[in-house]
Amino acid sequence: MAEKLSPQTALVHSAYVPPENFGALPVGIHHASTVLFPNVAAMRARNWKEKSGYTYGLHGTPTTFTLEARLAEIEGGRHCRIAPSGLAAISLVNFALLKTGDDVLLPDNVYGPNKDQAMWLERDFGVTARFYDPLIGAGITDLIQDNTRLIWTEAPGSVSMEVSDVPAICKAAHAKGVPVALDNTWSAGLAFPAFEHGVDIVMQALTKYQSGGSDVLMGAVITNDDDINHKIELAHMRIGFGVGMDDVYMVLRSLSSMRLRFDAHDAAARRIASWLKQRPEISKVLHPALPDCPGHDIWLRDFSGAGGLFSVTFDPRFSEEQIDRFVDGLRLFKIGFSWGGAHSLCVPYRMQTMRKTWAEQGGLVRFNVGLETVEDLIADIEQSLNKMAA
Ligand SMILES: *Cc1c(COP(=O)(O)O)cnc(C)c1O
Repeated sequence: MAEKLSPQTALVHSAYVPPENFGALPVGIHHASTVLFPNVAAMRARNWKEKSGYTYGLHGTPTTFTLEARLAEIEGGRHCRIAPSGLAAISLVNFALLKTGDDVLLPDNVYGPNKDQAMWLERDFGVTARFYDPLIGAGITDLIQDNTRLIWTEAPGSVSMEVSDVPAICKAAHAKGVPVALDNTWSAGLAFPAFEHGVDIVMQALTKYQSGGSDVLMGAVITNDDDINHKIELAHMRIGFGVGMDDVYMVLRSLSSMRLRFDAHDAAARRIASWLKQRPEISKVLHPALPDCPGHDIWLRDFSGAGGLFSVTFDPRFSEEQIDRFVDGLRLFKIGFSWGGAHSLCVPYRMQTMRKTWAEQGGLVRFNVGLETVEDLIADIEQSLNKMAA
């Protein structure tokens, strides 16, 4: 097609070519370990590192290549590799770019298992891992050492939701030749154009909005940098991160509706967050689109949307037992990790055990707003808040 299509249209009309004489809209589910070559010369000519054709199931089939191309397109990147979970995608970045003697910087509000993996790399693999204030911005320049090889960012960060100044961090990192990785899961690649803001590597937990069904675990690493991509491809092969084709198909099936779902989650979450802001039980609403959230001004500057995930802190007069009772008392909001599906979820967190510094006095609860009718969700929160406070 001659004209440049919008990303959403391009997502629906992918470049997938169905088998000859079988025109159908879905992408085929191509299972394979062995891939056949017509002759030895063809076998030798194919290079899995450059994806110049199919070589072995672990390197991908037309099904994975299609998903990878679509994910790269959403983010505005050129290269994409998928992995068996979001955490596996994080591992791919860490193992591609870090070795013994290297240093990695991560925000203090980074996704918990990424923090744990960094501490594991420090304990057992001779890498140093240091955690920075997510609101550090350009000040990160003072933390960058000669052996710093990777800076992780996440905006907003997990659970406490501070929005980092990713462009300022990228600028400081690039001045010292250090690549920046962003966990862009919260915005699904839809609300934050990471590469335009200077990010070198985007990581996505496809488990969330891309799947949208609370039924698949998958992750992706996306980049525009050929050299970084080469390292990612090598790490992907060396670790052996294969992904099941039926799962890949489920994500492909959901992806075309992701924009609509994301916008619906966003609109509903903002209404619920604003409603919570009026309640006397709640001290702060940590939603990037609301002024209570640290880094709200940066969200206004850099983001075009929000999605369904935010947190609140309770007035300190409410004990942990009372807040737990509030969560237990919800009927529509289920208790469980992950997010991005149709069901609303709610989890209380013990922030003092998760952050180096945590000044808020009241307990924190994270909401994932699903696709139920907003009035029903508000009524659910209201009945449980009233019972808790009684
Ligand atoms: C869920 C999540 C991950 C990890 O994804 P899994 O597929 O569950 O391993 C990584 N980062 C963020 C911000 C997440 O919310």
